[in-house]
Amino acid sequence: MSQYDTIIIGGGPAGLAAGIYAMRSRLKTILVEKYIPGGQMVMTDHVENYPGFPDGIGGPDLSSNMELQARGLGLEIVSSEVLNVDFSGEEKVINTTDGELRAPTVIIASGATPRRLGILGEGRLTGKGVSYCATCDGAFFRDREIAVVGGGNTAVQDAVFLTRFASKVTIVHRRDALRATRILQERAFKNPKIKMAWNSIVVEVQGDSRVEGLVLENVTDGSKRVLRVEGVFVLIGIDPITDLFKGHIILDPEGYIITDEDMQTNVPGVYAAGDCRRKSLRQMVTAAADGAIAAFSAERYIESLKDRML
Ligand code: NAP
Repeated sequence: MSQYDTIIIGGGPAGLAAGIYAMRSRLKTILVEKYIPGGQMVMTDHVENYPGFPDGIGGPDLSSNMELQARGLGLEIVSSEVLNVDFSGEEKVINTTDGELRAPTVIIASGATPRRLGILGEGRLTGKGVSYCATCDGAFFRDREIAVVGGGNTAVQDAVFLTRFASKVTIVHRRDALRATRILQERAFKNPKIKMAWNSIVVEVQGDSRVEGLVLENVTDGSKRVLRVEGVFVLIGIDPITDLFKGHIILDPEGYIITDEDMQTNVPGVYAAGDCRRKSLRQMVTAAADGAIAAFSAERYIESLKDRML
């Protein structure tokens, strides 16, 4: 006997939107989140491209609004970690740190996590000047010189944000052109506190108890130099959080979950939504849309199960 109609794994915009739609469809739904609801949204200082907020909105505010809306509709949100899953039967089983959950449908909205450089000193100095979250740690670097590694939207947007605190921000990028969208590039290039280290990779983070500098290698001529900084924000992209699902559903070579346009995985009744899914545009608005579609698909699947029993 299923305890729930739907179990949602993950409480970012995809999971919360799925929760809102599932509750409006009167599905008995539980959302399991390891940390606090919001996911990467909570790590975003200012969201400028979520429709409906002409002046933008703080990531934490948008997150708590979504959570309030979902809870207001009666969504049960629990703070537990999923330990393993069993999708082999019609009833799916999710084992968590707080016990077993069962439902005919599961929506995986497990999101993604910041990628590491994997270089000398990075692990040892994480939390001691090495950070993966500008919103969380930016204020610790008031009047300090820091670096941002990466050339995508996150790196460039966060470099601009970090100039509120830091005296100088060097963007270290491995090519001679940024990947970030034009509007963000323009903002960075006209900010006097931002300097560029083009064609450069970080090969070592130096420092005893705190970050003191970065060893940069120029990829065009192999030369090395030390950039004296007291902090480094590694913002080089994300990896999906899908290890738990390996062997249970089909993932692509990078670990992203493969779905169809209804968010259906290869296992009937199991859906994926948001950054953990293979797709071309990973944004809050597309995550929320995925969540809505996944909940709609889950409802249709449950109806089909009921029809079969008649
Ligand atoms: P991303 O778009 O994948 O960019 C990663 C950046 O890091 C690229 O510039 C890449 O260089 C560089 N990089 C990757 N691996 C590296 C390595 N080992 N060493 C040095 N550099 C490395 O990732 P993201 O910026 O975190 O963005 C993730 C997703 O969130 C994207 O879909 C993005 O559009 C979205 N996002 C959107 C906004 C917004 O709309 N305002 C803000 C934040 C994030 P190359 O360019 O050479 O590949």
